Amino acid sequence: MAAAADLSLIAYGDMVAGCERCALAQTRTQVVFGSGSPTADLMFVGEAPGFHEDKQGVPFVGAAGQLLSKLLAGIGLDRDSVYICNVLKCRPPGNRDPQPEEIQACEPHLFRQIELIQPKLVATLGNFATKLLSGKPTGITQVHGREQQVTLGGNEVTLYPIFHPAAALYTPRMLQVLEEDFRRIPELLGRSIEIPEPEPEPEPAPLEQPVQLGLF
Ligand code: URA
Repeated sequence: MAAAADLSLIAYGDMVAGCERCALAQTRTQVVFGSGSPTADLMFVGEAPGFHEDKQGVPFVGAAGQLLSKLLAGIGLDRDSVYICNVLKCRPPGNRDPQPEEIQACEPHLFRQIELIQPKLVATLGNFATKLLSGKPTGITQVHGREQQVTLGGNEVTLYPIFHPAAALYTPRMLQVLEEDFRRIPELLGRSIEIPEPEPEPEPAPLEQPVQLGLF
């Protein structure tokens, strides 16, 4: 069953690689479909690929992606054990906001991904993913950290809106909130919290031996 879902997701990704449902097909380098486990319980949905994602064809590989990897490591997870994708599969020129007609054209791809992967928990990163998947106009500042039950891709899932890591890159207070919201993810997945041991502090350098001058 898992292998079938895996193959269907690959086949669907191959089809989306040639998508021309909106004008972004003219300016993108390539479609950035998604990455990670096709049977993940946890799925992250961001906004749209940026410069690096468009070049590499992989979501969240730039600075925001590095922070996402770090936040995942902080709760004992890694990128291979979750699935990561975006509302838009193609980069908007100059990283401008997604336009309503682009979201509308692209959303069948996201819903199909959810249908195939069947995650238990969908964490929406920022406003665009949160508004699309909650079906409500309430912004992320008000709903972050509050899970809700929704039906997506024909399945009951827990939707968990959190701030977009890009918003936390240069704002320490935002990072703190994002870390706090991340810490609830294991509980929402029904798992015991597996917070990794902090890296040990490096051993202090040994004190230098007093120089023996050989005077006596
Ligand atoms: N921001 C996003 O929303 N998605 C990416 O893939 C990278 C940055």
